[in-house]
Amino acid sequence: MRPSPISATVDFDADGVQHGFLKLPVSHDESAWGAVMIPVTVVKNGDGPTALLTGGNHGDEYEGITALLKLARRLTAEEVTGRVIIVPMMNQPAAQAGRRTSPMDRGNLNRSFPGDPDGGPTKQIADYFTRVLVPMCDIALDLHSGGRTLDILPFAAAHRLDDLDLERQSLKGAIDFGASTAIMMYELDAAALYDTVVESQGKVLVTTELGGGGTSTPASIEISERGVRNFLIFAGITEGEVQRPPRQQYVEMPDASCYVQSEHAGLLEMTCALGGLVREGEVVARIWDITRTGAEPVAYRASRDGLVLARRFPARVEMGDTLVVIGELVETLER
Ligand SMILES: [Zn+2]
Repeated sequence: MRPSPISATVDFDADGVQHGFLKLPVSHDESAWGAVMIPVTVVKNGDGPTALLTGGNHGDEYEGITALLKLARRLTAEEVTGRVIIVPMMNQPAAQAGRRTSPMDRGNLNRSFPGDPDGGPTKQIADYFTRVLVPMCDIALDLHSGGRTLDILPFAAAHRLDDLDLERQSLKGAIDFGASTAIMMYELDAAALYDTVVESQGKVLVTTELGGGGTSTPASIEISERGVRNFLIFAGITEGEVQRPPRQQYVEMPDASCYVQSEHAGLLEMTCALGGLVREGEVVARIWDITRTGAEPVAYRASRDGLVLARRFPARVEMGDTLVVIGELVETLER
């Protein structure tokens, strides 16, 4: 495989604070010898662990983007032992367009890993992370949220892994992130995720969902910023004490039945609240036919007892859309 076409304008080995770009050459109608410019900040001070902090893996998930833009402005080299690499807008073309996927090649970055140096821009970005940035890091935090189509209870999450020690460290990172909810997450399709690349290289990966609706709130930004601060302390890169809420709840997602998906199109009426508790069989949503009056709505029911982790955000719904995600409250996520 040829080397990545992406080059960095920062020196990852230099001490101090550098703001620069990851430059991906792309030749198009508006710029024959142009480049996609992905902003990057490196803060380094001597020897120590490297944390890779990313947002904008999906371009319409603003909580992580905002928190990392703020961190990149404030973090000083004196505060750091080791290195922090901050990429607030991984899929820069998607973030620039305010979309989940890239307008350049319709690529969904978090379904494009491990990537390809000879693919479209999205696969080329994925490949650069897989072969250049992830190998540089010891620990990674990827900040997601619901974007335009989902609203999600703010949480940090780890995954069940064959490497039990790595699973334990990742879970500790998710709990130390300090959101009110920590989750052992079940992914619908993990094969092409960034998470899977990081974990398969034996590195700690904490992922998050921090709100949604294609916006942010003072509360969701506060959770995101505190989480990033906590994560750097957890990584042993900055000093201080991890700040966790007085009560945290732990949620397990055992399998795909956590996801309630639509088999109808129409108007969504939510009958459960985000963060609320539901019982198995309880109606969590109705879908109304808006082409006529007098028709019976279709009821969707909870597949299990549990906590409402996520909901579809827009009221218009199509077949296949995820309506509600329900997780199981547990005493502990350790095994
Ligand atoms: Zn996302």
